[in-house]
Parts: sequence; structure tokens; C-alpha cells
Amino acid sequence: MEPILPGSTIGVLGSGQLGRMFAMAARRMGYRVHTLSPDDDSPTGQIADREITAEYEDIDAVSSFARTVDVVTFEFENVPSIAAEAAALHAPVRPSGTTLHLMQQRAREKGFLADHGFPVTPFAWLQPGEDLSAAIALVGLPAVIKTAAFGYDGKGQRKVATLDEAESAWRDMNGQEIVVERFIDFHRELSLIGARGVAGWTATYGLIQNSHTNHILDSSIYPADVEPALERRATEIVVELLHALDVIGLVCVEFFLTRRGELMINEVAPRPHNSGHLTIDACITSQFEQQLRAICGLPPGWVERVRPAAMVNLLGDLWRNGEPDWAAACLIPGVKLHLYGKAHPRSGRKMGHLTALAHDTDSALRLALRARAAL
Ligand code: AMP
Repeated sequence: MEPILPGSTIGVLGSGQLGRMFAMAARRMGYRVHTLSPDDDSPTGQIADREITAEYEDIDAVSSFARTVDVVTFEFENVPSIAAEAAALHAPVRPSGTTLHLMQQRAREKGFLADHGFPVTPFAWLQPGEDLSAAIALVGLPAVIKTAAFGYDGKGQRKVATLDEAESAWRDMNGQEIVVERFIDFHRELSLIGARGVAGWTATYGLIQNSHTNHILDSSIYPADVEPALERRATEIVVELLHALDVIGLVCVEFFLTRRGELMINEVAPRPHNSGHLTIDACITSQFEQQLRAICGLPPGWVERVRPAAMVNLLGDLWRNGEPDWAAACLIPGVKLHLYGKAHPRSGRKMGHLTALAHDTDSALRLALRARAAL
């Protein structure tokens, strides 16, 4: 198949920060970018050549968008399948609508992983009105109740210690379809990003170590503090998964590392991931450029790490006392500022991130945290 070369136009469904950083990588390599989402003056739209403001369900708008581009990709997976199907009539959609559909729903995703022998957190899938006590007996307590449809950043999930708490959590979710998961008392949270190209090549980064606050990613360090054998095992899992999903594009697999040293998949995202933002500054090829290469039928870029790195997220809460002091953060050596061009800093909203590079991850994390505190 002929590669889609610089000068061609990439269509991005979705218009948040992932699309923005993707568009930056694409434009640097001479591609044009069109984005479609319900928003205007969006993080992606500010960088793209064209921003189309339309609902994903507006099939006429999606069709005319797809007619003007050479390939369509996503920056978030909750685009309705009908939009992917409509786009596919006019341009290749990568990853495919089928992959997207599978990964859009937590229960479907976990079912696929379990059926294909991938290690996942023990879970049960419950339809409205089904027996919660049997599910709890199966997975054990404490457990985590999650809406089967994906919430993001911990939205739509609750940790419960008793059957009563579980029942009340389910009621609070309006009795909708849920997944009940065993609560994993993990040693570490890790993620690994891999890409698969049109020609079938795969390319993987190493393990990134993540820490969350209130279920939202707070910081990442790279490389993770783990044994090489564990990284090899995680890499094998991700490569197998890329093939099993028949993905063209990127996946990020989030793992729990249990205290007994086992890897369990928590979640898979069929797109670039927050934990991979540090690849922009720390690696020869960023996750965004790798996504571009994969969907355009180009060879993979080198994934080598140039320096150990740490990333900290900048949430809307930082704006509580007015505009943060950007100059103060920029004073700190080795720290790179990334802002997403969002006008309204709401609490918990991802507004930007800082990446710090240093000779080791401890120093990088210290620098990144110091820079964030200086804001
Ligand atoms: P999720 O939206 O499922 O990725 O969950 C967000 C975060 O909540 C995870 O990164 C964990 O920190 C925590 N979490 C989710 N599920 C579990 C679980 N089964 N056991 C322990 N912690 C969990």
C-alpha cells in the first residue's frame, strides 16, 4: 500500500490536547490537519489547518470532513461508531471503527482481554437488576464498582468495602450496566505504549511509572523503576495485544504491578496517552509522531530515550489564585512547559503539563515538582 506522504491531510476526530500534540507533530512533518468535534477554538483546532464544529452524530458533516482528508484518526475513543463508519466510506480510518467499538466500553474491552488470555484484574459484568452479591462473592472485597461505559479519569467508579456499600454505589450510578472489579493493592502503576503500522511493524516504548491523585494521573517517570525482565514481559503483552486487536495506530496499556510481582491490565487506550506526553521531550520520536507514522504507512521512528524524564500534570485548580507564574517555572533548568490553549481552567481539568529532563528520574521528578510548586 502506498504511504500517505507529507503534504497529505490527516483528519482527527476529537479536538482536545491529544489531538493538539498530534497536530503539532503532523504539521512539523509537513502534513495538513483537519479536526472535527462539537467544540470551537479547541486545543486541536488552534493548531489544525481547519476546525470543523459539528456533532459526531451529524453524518453529513462527518462525511464531508472525511472527503477532504487522506486518512482519519481519533484523539479520544468515545466517538460514536456511526461517525467512524460514515468516515470509512471516504477515507481509511485508523485505528478501525471495530477496534474503537471494542475499546469504548469497559466491559467489552475486559471481556476481549480475558477471552484472549491477557492478564486482567478479576471482574464481573452486571446488567441492570442482576445479582450483585454473586459478583462480589466472585471478585472479593474490597472491590471497585465502575460504569461499564467508560468514564474517564476515575469518573463513574467507586471503591467499596461491603456489599451494602456496593449496592448503594450501584444505585448512585442509576442501576446502569457495571463492572465489578477486585480492588488491587498494587505496588506500582505502570503503562507501556506501542504502535503498529500499516505494514504490520510494531514499535514499543519502555515502561512508564505513574502515580494518580483522585483517580487522575498526577505524575509519570520514565524509565520506570522495575527489573528488565518485567519490562520484557510487559512488552510481549503489548505486542501480542497490538496484533490481537489488529490495530493500526497506537495503544497505551495501563498495568497494575501487584505486590507479588504480577502484571495485570487495568485499561487499554487505542490512542496516545497522558503518561506518554513525556516522550515529546525525552525520546527521539514522540508518541504523537509514532501515531502519525503508523497511520500514514511510514516506517516507525526510533523510540530511544534521550534522557530520564518526569512529567507532572497541570490541572485547572492551579488557577485558583489567578494566572500561574509561568516565568517562575521556566527558570528551573531542564523543565519544559506545555499548555493546551484551554480558556477555562475548571477544577480537575487538564490544562497542560511540565516535563523535566535530568540524569536520573528522581532528580527529574524533583525538578518537575519544584517547577509546579513555583507556579
Ligand atoms: P481507571 O479509570 O479504571 O483507569 O481508574 C483510574 C485509577 O483508579 C487507576 O489508575 C487506579 O489508580 C485506580 N483504580 C481503578 N481500578 C482499580 C482497582 N481495581 N484496584 C485498585 N485501584 C484501582
